[in-house]
Order: sequence, then C-alpha cells, then structure tokens
Amino acid sequence: MAKKGPRKIIKLQCTECKERNYSTKKNDRNTTDKLELTKYCKKDRKHTLHKEAKAS
Ligand SMILES: [Zn+2]
Repeated sequence: MAKKGPRKIIKLQCTECKERNYSTKKNDRNTTDKLELTKYCKKDRKHTLHKEAKAS
C-alpha cells in the first residue's frame, strides 16, 4: 500500500513575465496560504516574486 501524503506539486509563476519556471511541493495541511517566494527568473535576469500556480 502506497503512502499518500497531503503534498501537492505546485508551480511557481513569476509575477513579472508570468513564466512558470519553478515547481515545488507543498503540504496542504501545514501550508494553507498561497506560496510567495522570491526566486531568480532567467527571463527577467533578476530576482522576482513568484506566486503559487496550480500544476496542470
Ligand atoms: Zn520572470
């Protein structure tokens, strides 16, 4: 029997160019807020704010 956690794979979308360039996992039970992380965007060539987007 495989263990299934509450972790979901989500994607992080750059708020500047809208590129989804990062994916991460999130535990829905512990993290109910939308993720917001500052990540380096290759397109923008700088650190930008990335927000959670649903993985397709
Ligand atoms: Zn960007």
